[in-house]
Amino acid sequence: MPPTFTYQFNNTCFKGTSSFETGVFINNKFTDGSDKTTIDVFNPSTGQVLCQVAEATPKDVDTAVNAAQKAFDTVWGMKAPAAQRGILMNKLADLMDAHFDELCALEALDNGKTFNWAKIDDVTASVGCIRYYAGWADKIQGKEIPCGEDKLAYTRHEPMGVVGQIIPWNFPLLMLCWKIGPALATGNTIVMKCSEFTPLTALFICKLSVQAGFPPGVFNLLVGYGHTVGAAISSHMDIQKVAFTGSTLVGRKIAEAAAKSNLKNVTLELGGKSPNIVFDDCDMEHAVNWTAYGIFWNQGQTCCAGSRIFVHAKIYDEFLQKFTAKIKSLKVGDPFDSANYQGAQRIMGYIQSGKSEGATCHIGGERQGTEGYFIQPTIFTNCKPDMKIVREEIFGPVGVLIKFDDDDDVVRQANDTIYGLAAAIFSQDINRAIKTANRIQAGTVWINSVANTDFHMPFGGFKQSGMGRELGEYALNNYTNVKSVHVNLGAKMI
Ligand code: NAD
Repeated sequence: MPPTFTYQFNNTCFKGTSSFETGVFINNKFTDGSDKTTIDVFNPSTGQVLCQVAEATPKDVDTAVNAAQKAFDTVWGMKAPAAQRGILMNKLADLMDAHFDELCALEALDNGKTFNWAKIDDVTASVGCIRYYAGWADKIQGKEIPCGEDKLAYTRHEPMGVVGQIIPWNFPLLMLCWKIGPALATGNTIVMKCSEFTPLTALFICKLSVQAGFPPGVFNLLVGYGHTVGAAISSHMDIQKVAFTGSTLVGRKIAEAAAKSNLKNVTLELGGKSPNIVFDDCDMEHAVNWTAYGIFWNQGQTCCAGSRIFVHAKIYDEFLQKFTAKIKSLKVGDPFDSANYQGAQRIMGYIQSGKSEGATCHIGGERQGTEGYFIQPTIFTNCKPDMKIVREEIFGPVGVLIKFDDDDDVVRQANDTIYGLAAAIFSQDINRAIKTANRIQAGTVWINSVANTDFHMPFGGFKQSGMGRELGEYALNNYTNVKSVHVNLGAKMI
């Protein structure tokens, strides 16, 4: 039998026992994986093993796909009234609300992000996302299209069937909700693989989904490795679509596997190296605070982190001085200490490469403490465009500060990347800001804020940052097939 996870939280943010079943979750039941092996789950704040969970295998993927197909054919898909899907999703959101602090605590424990930020961002946005898509469930409709008097022509937006979903560790609960929200609302059934590093909140959601009343087989969760379970999902012949969030490297493998198997539909939400442009007419305090948030929020482990910070030469010195003071005020450490901004994580190789390639480590650059994976908020100056720290996604609290003095040139530099996920622009001249936004090659541009996503608005990448859009109404297209129906009302022969 797979073990029950039990943990006693005893800190100022949250006191209480969290206890729930773990395992391979198929047909609303937890079981061992087919090989009866386990995966160690670590607490990144201490480096210690937190618990072991059942490891899923490709054989379990087959079992889960069969369960999901049966549910799709009998109780979900086009068999259940659309409104019923919305009702169940709202129940799930209610249960998440009822366990709000526990979800925040589990996320902090498992991922290392602070309890405070989990509360402000992750869990709030997760519940909001499920409610938002619950509202869509009975509003997914085709159109009647005028094709002349002798024809009734209309479209239907039908669910695809069994969809595979693969998510990363940086926002374990939020990424789960971005994925299941539109997939469930549109009537698909799900085989999800969460990250092997951060399975706790996903397993907790399994328990809540049963309590909410989702029929067996509608939502199935596997904790397993990418090269086994992830690969089996991407290449499965009976999975109609795979939705992936993670690195560009793995996204490419998934697209390849999908193409070589049943040519399943693919959406990819991948990495980024987002520019954060600070013009000389910005509101300085505003720009400093948001820029710090953009690069250090969630320990910099954010796909849309504003990691290339371009600052106009006229204000560069003042910005650097204020930004440095801001960084010094950020505390790194225990995720359950409400004073802390940044929790635990892993990243020193890039910092070394920045130093050895000749950039100036202006602030930070060291590990902090002897336990866990804490790294100081780090900023490099005097960077050259071909340095690894300027070109590659670091996925940690490490940013580069680059001086510019020409609006055209900063747009050129901002676009000089394989990525195109997001960008931020700080200026009080709205014409200058919007004109710059129009020229930036990115799926999202924030003006006078950064990393300010909203589940009502689509999110996704240009270039090698991805394909397709999550969130908002746009995400519904990822999970529906459009069928055109032509009804001949008169013509006997053309
Ligand atoms: P990752 O690509 O290493 O892993 C993501 C998921 O893919 C994990 O569940 C992993 O087990 C699985 N996987 C690994 N190899 C696989 C394979 N061969 N086949 C199928 N699945 C496989 O990414 P990560 O380190 O977990 O997350 C960080 C990355 O995610 C960053 O690049 C970040 O930018 C990106 N990300 C993007 C978004 C977005 O919305 N664009 C959001 C969050 C994170």
